[in-house]
Amino acid sequence: MRYETVVIGAGPAGLTAALYLARYKRSVLVVHDENSRALRIPTTHNAPGFPDGISGPDLIDRMTIHAREFGAKIQKAQIVDIEKGSDGFGLIASNGDKFEARSVILAGGIFLNQVDLPHDTHEQAIRDDVLRYCPVCDGYEHSDKKIGVIGCDSDGAAEALFLRQFSADITLMPLSHPELSSAQKQEMEGAGIDVLTGKLVKLQPHSDRIDVHLEGQSAPVSFDVVYPALGCRPRTELAERLGIALCDDGCLPAEALGDSGVEGFFGAGDVLDGLDQISIAMGHGAQAATNAHNWLREQDKHVLQNAESRA
Ligand SMILES: Cc1cc2nc3c(=O)[nH]c(=O)nc-3n(C[C@H](O)[C@H](O)[C@H](O)COP(=O)(O)OP(=O)(O)OC[C@H]3O[C@@H](n4cnc5c(N)ncnc54)[C@H](O)[C@@H]3O)c2cc1C
Repeated sequence: MRYETVVIGAGPAGLTAALYLARYKRSVLVVHDENSRALRIPTTHNAPGFPDGISGPDLIDRMTIHAREFGAKIQKAQIVDIEKGSDGFGLIASNGDKFEARSVILAGGIFLNQVDLPHDTHEQAIRDDVLRYCPVCDGYEHSDKKIGVIGCDSDGAAEALFLRQFSADITLMPLSHPELSSAQKQEMEGAGIDVLTGKLVKLQPHSDRIDVHLEGQSAPVSFDVVYPALGCRPRTELAERLGIALCDDGCLPAEALGDSGVEGFFGAGDVLDGLDQISIAMGHGAQAATNAHNWLREQDKHVLQNAESRA
């Protein structure tokens, strides 16, 4: 079947885009490979409208029901290839399924670069709140706790300084070797942030703390929570296949929300350069959907010619 829009991704960005497009009476299919980062959130406390917090899976369930309510179709599949023809896009899934669309919104999110732990241990540590990846999301919940940051480079230093707002007990540790400049070391010292230099040997999460074993230390250092600051890999391979130039960190440029350089192709959510948050992903979803809808209207000559519109 040919859709007016295929949305790749069923996270906050993709599901918001699908809701808006369905309510614009567009035929819309969401395809996703069940990898929304939101599904890993035990409880978020900064999603507006949920003062008692909401779990990521609950939020995604509600958004899925909401988008379906207005006619969006949602299907599991991993898209592995995309091509642009004269009248739209062809998408190919890993199981061989093919989809056609006049326009595409890529809301594929990111993969985090994670610390080396077995999958189940890693996810349990997230649920136990001893391993976290996003100080913007949950720094508040760790106020006055003993916090470790892994990644002794400028990203790690920036994250440690950000967390300093919430706790006076912050320690920065390298994954392999420290890469701080002397100015950065001074800045850490000035902010009262401890810097350890031994390479990370092992992490041992417990239900109420996480032990960090560092080379050269006879005993592990215990923290209430550890934040690895190891960067991420945006899921932008499909945009790259279309020849879209990516930012240095692999994200889509922010302009791809409205103008990716490929007609009819838009980006939304964490794949775009900027702050990775649920509320922003939702806003992107609404905007990308409206951009796609208006682009389709233009193609169909359903807009006033020579007139500005803010819709
Ligand atoms: C532990 C944790 C806690 C967090 N806490 C918070 C918080 O408290 N507050 C907050 O605002 N944010 C939080 N975040 C961040 C938040 O989850 C993300 O910012 C948000 O999910 C981004 O939404 P998105 O729709 O852009 O991407 P995602 O939710 O990651 O969704 C991406 C979608 O794209 C799909 N996809 C990608 N590529 C393909 C492909 N080729 N084929 C098919 N499907 C594909 C995936 O399956 C997925 O459905 C947290 C993240 C984590 C991991």
